[in-house]
Formats: sequence, structure tokens, C-alpha cells
Amino acid sequence: MLELRPTCENCNKLLPPESAEALICSFECTFCSDCVAKLPGNACPNCGGNFEKRPVRPSQLVTKYPPTEVVTFKPIS
Ligand SMILES: [Zn+2]
Ligand SMILES: [Zn+2]
Repeated sequence: MLELRPTCENCNKLLPPESAEALICSFECTFCSDCVAKLPGNACPNCGGNFEKRPVRPSQLVTKYPPTEVVTFKPIS
């Protein structure tokens, strides 16, 4: 199941499950749209893969399947 990481891994911006600006790569590296816009070639700085918009989890299921608590805040530089 998708992790739904709670924050952008570059700027630590909050990205709640309903956020429309969360983008993920195939490894679920999670960035906000502002940070992805600054990345060369839409490529993930961790794995080199491309980003896609993260699906929004329906709010009635967020309680049952909550976002991960793990915060993996690793600035790119
Ligand atoms: Zn960001
Ligand atoms: Zn990645």
C-alpha cells in the first residue's frame, strides 16, 4: 500500500493525504510540486525516476489506513 509520506522530502512542507500538490516516484519518494518544478528533467534526486501526482486517498479511508508516521526529511543539497 502507498505510504502517503506526510511531508516533502526536500523542503519539509506538509503534504496531507488530500494534498493535490504531492508528487511521488516509483519508490514513493515524496516531494511537493514546487520542489519537483525545480528538479532537472522531472527526475527524482534519490533514484533518478520520474514523478507522478500522488493519488488522493478518500477521506473516509484515511482513518482506517492512515498516512505513515515516518518522516524522511532529506534535503537535496
Ligand atoms: Zn518541497
Ligand atoms: Zn525516488
